[in-house]
Amino acid sequence: MTEKRCAIAIDGPSGAGKSTIAKAVAARRGYIYVDTGAIYRTVGLAARRGSVDPHDAAGVAALLPGLDIRFDYGPDGSQRMYLNGEDVSAAIRTPEASMYASAVSAIPAVRAFLLDMQRDAAKTHSVVMDGRDIGTVVLPQAGLKIFLTASLEARAKRRLAELTAKGDPSTLADVITDMTRRDEQDTSRAAAPLKAAADAVVVDTSDMTLPQSIQAVCDLAEERFGRTEP
Ligand code: C5P
Repeated sequence: MTEKRCAIAIDGPSGAGKSTIAKAVAARRGYIYVDTGAIYRTVGLAARRGSVDPHDAAGVAALLPGLDIRFDYGPDGSQRMYLNGEDVSAAIRTPEASMYASAVSAIPAVRAFLLDMQRDAAKTHSVVMDGRDIGTVVLPQAGLKIFLTASLEARAKRRLAELTAKGDPSTLADVITDMTRRDEQDTSRAAAPLKAAADAVVVDTSDMTLPQSIQAVCDLAEERFGRTEP
């Protein structure tokens, strides 16, 4: 008998808490967590290392056939990214890598190159997948779609705390500038812009603590899929 796979798609702007919440919900339900932003970041890193302008669609597209991008999961369940065999999980987390990721993700050839990799993960496992176009493009049949959002100020403060903890010297003003630029780039692009799927449940976490946000998503999952693990 084929097991029924459940898919939870979580989309939203950067800093809304998608990855932390998605990871926690996946752990509670026994699903795998797929961080699709990390996959775009890996392509962005490849462009930077290849000295290719990330806005140069033809230049970035020419790099793609030479890229071997894979991911797996560490013992703690965290997703690790590999670029041509090298573990780049840490290298893709800098503010510069974020801007490269946002730029290359606007290129249709990049989105097409990564589509099957994302869909395949949901064929073999029940997943919580987060990104910008999961409910609209990657998994339009997902049983639960969530658009996770928060005010710019709340998102920027959370992102700053993460960066500061890693020793990054960015200020709140730097983070707000980067985030505004990235939001603008992500929502205005022609290819798979960031937007809520028509049937997505909007969850605004501006005034929620992290445990409250996780609970809100778990409650929605339980309503949709039931309490038991797949
Ligand atoms: O989620 P994260 O901030 O790691 O994503 C990095 C960038 O990758 C985003 O700014 C966005 O431009 C892009 N992205 C995307 N589609 C996804 C996930 C991420 O375009 N599904």
